[in-house]
Amino acid sequence: MEVKVLSPIPRPEPKAVEVPPAPHKVWVVYEVKPGDALEAIARRFGVDPRHILWSSGLKDARLYPGQRLLIPIVDQEADAPPRLPPGVEAYRVRPGDTLEAIAKRFGVSLLDLVSANPTLESLDRLVVGSELYIPRKAKGLVVVLGEGQTLLDLAERFGLSPVELARANGVKNPLALRPGDRVLIPGLQAKTTYERLLAKQEAERRARLEAERRRQEELRRLAEQRRRQQEAQRRQAQVRQVSYREGGMRWPLANFQITTYFGGRTPFQRFHTGIDLAAPAGTPIYAAKAGRVEVAGWSSVGYGFHVVLDHGGGLETLYAHMSRIAVRAGQWVEAGQVIGYVGSTGWSTGPHLHFEVRVNGLVKNPLSYLP
Ligand SMILES: [Zn+2]
Repeated sequence: MEVKVLSPIPRPEPKAVEVPPAPHKVWVVYEVKPGDALEAIARRFGVDPRHILWSSGLKDARLYPGQRLLIPIVDQEADAPPRLPPGVEAYRVRPGDTLEAIAKRFGVSLLDLVSANPTLESLDRLVVGSELYIPRKAKGLVVVLGEGQTLLDLAERFGLSPVELARANGVKNPLALRPGDRVLIPGLQAKTTYERLLAKQEAERRARLEAERRRQEELRRLAEQRRRQQEAQRRQAQVRQVSYREGGMRWPLANFQITTYFGGRTPFQRFHTGIDLAAPAGTPIYAAKAGRVEVAGWSSVGYGFHVVLDHGGGLETLYAHMSRIAVRAGQWVEAGQVIGYVGSTGWSTGPHLHFEVRVNGLVKNPLSYLP
């Protein structure tokens, strides 16, 4: 019987859900000899004759000598789990497992555990359901025997005697192991791997710290930005208030004492229509706000020499009892310009400035307009 093994169908990729592995199939080409019957061939290969028909694309069981059949056979050996070295156990990673906890549970060192699993990618992250090799009674490097490799090749590569290596792996014949079997290389540790993983762990730890530091910095930056915005808003509000005052009025005297407030009773008025600011005679009186001189002259109702400024928008200021007037009606004055001097003309008992604010002809409390 001439048989030729074709390339096997690749095994399915591992999935999250555990399923029994599909039979590992190998295709065998069989050339029909005179006298061969399908049933007999199928029996000989231990397969269902219908599978041979299906694989070979045949419609019926009539065969002729020289005809080629494709026989799908199940490769029992390929389906067998890989052989583990004696003293090494397989362990399936469960949720919540860490390498350190597993090492502690089995009483092995982290380095020995890594040596038995030199293809590990991380000390911190284990894949749930993946297999770990636990070096319970035998310590060393656990490697996979590659395709076309024998124990002899490994012995040479790691500088060990083949007999010693075979004994450590529980076989007498170094050729007894097949590709895919796990081989223990005794006396070797995956120090480099372990150190690489440690370095990686440290790098990841640093990266985490760095990310946390950046996050904190960003939070601080945002807080600082918010604080600055609030500060700017506060300052802006202050500026508005100041500019309102500036756009409002300034005191008409530099030095004075308020002797009578708005609304109080005076010897001349039951309701005081302004405020009285006492100051020595001759003290300059300033325009409280820029405006046009509406009145500059003598009053017949007690104001004496007085000035009325029109600031527009219905706003007027009045300055009374002056000793002397320094402006003329119709003239434009700037805020702070001298418009006259303190005196005691009109109904007055001593040198002072009677200052009034009027809005649309109604007297208002000047203190509401002054800084
Ligand atoms: Zn007064």
